[in-house]
Amino acid sequence: MPNLDIPSAQPTPIRVGARTIVPLVEAVGPALPARATYPQLDQGELQDLVEAYGDTYSGSSRTRLRVICQGFAILGAGQVILVDTCLGGPKPNRPHPRADFVSRWPSALAAAGISPEHVDTVINTHLHHDHVGWNTTFEAGKLRPTFPRARYLTTAEEYSHATRGKPQVHITNSLLPLHATQQLDTCEPETRIDQEVRLIPAPGHTPGHVLVEIDSQGQRAVLAADLIHHPLQLRRPDVSAAMCTDPHQSAVTRRTILHRYADTGTLFLPSHLPKGGYLRSADEGWRLAETP
Ligand SMILES: [Zn+2]
Repeated sequence: MPNLDIPSAQPTPIRVGARTIVPLVEAVGPALPARATYPQLDQGELQDLVEAYGDTYSGSSRTRLRVICQGFAILGAGQVILVDTCLGGPKPNRPHPRADFVSRWPSALAAAGISPEHVDTVINTHLHHDHVGWNTTFEAGKLRPTFPRARYLTTAEEYSHATRGKPQVHITNSLLPLHATQQLDTCEPETRIDQEVRLIPAPGHTPGHVLVEIDSQGQRAVLAADLIHHPLQLRRPDVSAAMCTDPHQSAVTRRTILHRYADTGTLFLPSHLPKGGYLRSADEGWRLAETP
């Protein structure tokens, strides 16, 4: 991911009933080439859609999508849960996303008042490189789990997909070291973490891709992972990203999930959208609104 800037401000914690969601931002910038991300759209249509959502979601030339790389902390009920751990720090055998890229994720975590020892659970919504990076830290020539007490969780399907054949280097660096300390658990895609937090199956982007729903005291938020990479996919849910392993399944899932949560006052926070919102039906597809 080139062209990622270091964001200057820490987003404000979001209250959802008795829980608090803290976005933990690693970087933001016009990182994704629009055409390569959405090859199924013809150029004119893509240009119009990207233009319609403006500067928040694309660079000024509109050829690149402005994306954020973030994870989330879910606090409350005596638990510290992290959802996705971004690109991560320097690792062996791994070309860094950009030569001068320095991940600010650990400082975002510290700014949220979370020390690594406090983390109970780390959920990887899926096992792409930009969601698992800080699972481990490279220190004194060794890779070790960044969160010494945490149970790390991903779906069994995602794990077997990512470890089939020769694993990619980010799997070797950020996932496999968790076995040595017996901190990695796999689960079903529909899994309850506690009374207010659960995983929601959302296959297609990857086979075991999940979302995280927080439902507390009548308020609800969904950490929507990579269900969409740009809001044009709310208007056109049939359009999957080039990174989706199964574009057809991804589109089916997208439509089902958007339909399920629209107009229910649900706050919708995809991993890579610089700004989320409350999911509403629109004349064409869906949209994100500022209020429930
Ligand atoms: Zn991603």
